[in-house]
Amino acid sequence: MRPNNEEADKLLDLYFPVLDYGFVRLCDYMGTDKCIEEAARVSYQHGTRKVSKTRGLIRYLRRHLHTSPFEQVELKFHISLPIFVMRQLVRSRMANLNEISGRYSLLPMMFYTPTKEQFCKQSPSNNQGRSSEQLNENLYKKTIEKWNKLRDENQQLYKSLTEEELARELARIDLPLSTYTQLYWKCDLHNLFHFLKLRTDSHAQWEIREFANIIAGIVKVVAPLSFEAWIDYNQSSVNFSRLERLALNKLISYASNGKTLSDEELEEDGLSKREIQEFRDKLKYKEPPDFSLDLSSVKSAEYFEELSKKFSI
Ligand SMILES: Cc1cc2nc3c(=O)[nH]c(=O)nc-3n(C[C@H](O)[C@H](O)[C@H](O)COP(=O)(O)OP(=O)(O)OC[C@H]3O[C@@H](n4cnc5c(N)ncnc54)[C@H](O)[C@@H]3O)c2cc1C
Repeated sequence: MRPNNEEADKLLDLYFPVLDYGFVRLCDYMGTDKCIEEAARVSYQHGTRKVSKTRGLIRYLRRHLHTSPFEQVELKFHISLPIFVMRQLVRSRMANLNEISGRYSLLPMMFYTPTKEQFCKQSPSNNQGRSSEQLNENLYKKTIEKWNKLRDENQQLYKSLTEEELARELARIDLPLSTYTQLYWKCDLHNLFHFLKLRTDSHAQWEIREFANIIAGIVKVVAPLSFEAWIDYNQSSVNFSRLERLALNKLISYASNGKTLSDEELEEDGLSKREIQEFRDKLKYKEPPDFSLDLSSVKSAEYFEELSKKFSI
């Protein structure tokens, strides 16, 4: 019998909705925490170790960057996501993927629309991101109208060009980045953890984080001990540079004398203003996100099939 995890088996083929029309579905998985232990101790047979020993070993592996045993576990997902999110997902080069082909298929005219809560100003500190400050409702409404107008025009053009029998590979070229696409995406657990570290982080775009959070919730079920170790040693851990370790040493010794470590002293030691800010942020303890899946949100395959039909041209 192949090693399985009964809780993970229950997730197979559940559609977890993401954003307005997207989803993540676990299609298949190969391996469990036990397989990682087996790979690390190739001479041991399946099922011969106690869970506590498995946990200890897995935590040791993650702490000491002995990552190859995590490559023995793989997860395969079916994902529906806007093209601009897909462009971020494909940067994880160690995953294998197959995307719906707009050369063969007529794409459903599904476009992502951000909610009012996400309609926020450019961040003043992070050039890549948005701040938490929402723009006014009036602008939101006007923008939605403009987006809808553009999307209607694009959709009409796409429809008319395909009706004129223009090749689909050309008819699609002006579809917007908000258009939903679908893919099968398979990744081993080592690289999946790397992806999740990058894309569950607050610096990643909110939309890809929504997908990463669901994927993380699925991994939590498939390989709970590895997931726990990833949270402790990767997701919620930080690295300290040499200068930061020097500063930490000073902080600890100063604390016993009631002395504080000033920014000026840190600058004298060679840290830039930005590094000082980052160092102080690293010292703040943050509770890790829970990542538990919301099973009440699950939709059926038929729900997404109907949605796709509704938006077909
Ligand atoms: C917040 C954020 C902002 C970003 N902004 C931008 C941006 O503005 N522009 C942009 O182009 N990208 C951007 N990226 C993408 C980023 O640069 C990485 O390409 C992406 O996160 C994938 O990381 P990776 O290469 O480590 O992962 P993977 O591609 O999954 O690779 C995993 C690991 O394999 C190794 N590896 C893979 N391929 C090679 C290779 N060819 N040579 C050597 N080692 C390799 C590396 O060790 C790598 O860490 C951003 C990513 C994040 C998270």
